[in-house]
Amino acid sequence: MDSDPDYTLDSDEPDYLAEKGRQWRAENPNLVLEYAAKRRAVVRDAWDEYVDRDIVWERDAGICHICGEPADPNRWDLDHIVPLRPHDGGPAGRHNYGNVAVSHPSCNYRKNNRRLNRGEQEEARAS
Ligand SMILES: [Zn+2]
Repeated sequence: MDSDPDYTLDSDEPDYLAEKGRQWRAENPNLVLEYAAKRRAVVRDAWDEYVDRDIVWERDAGICHICGEPADPNRWDLDHIVPLRPHDGGPAGRHNYGNVAVSHPSCNYRKNNRRLNRGEQEEARAS
């Protein structure tokens, strides 16, 4: 097989790779977020399955599970209902569809890695 003289493999050129990476991340924002979530979950040995943010968003109808108000489709957190690293030392949650939900970044931040009890949830809804 003749090699094509016009074809030059320059994929190991750093700028080319960096640009490819930038392009891919711009085109696949959900995958970027999910891969980051997977890395964190794997580090904690808590990864069960790939979670598609679009599916979670649709399932939860874009409603924040903490305060019950609609979230911003362009800026929401995939919250672990049972935290992967609970502050109280309780059993850790897993990264799977059953343990994730839509949340406002601010509600997620306030939750601060604690699992809300029923009373706290009502309080969050009321405020
Ligand atoms: Zn909220």
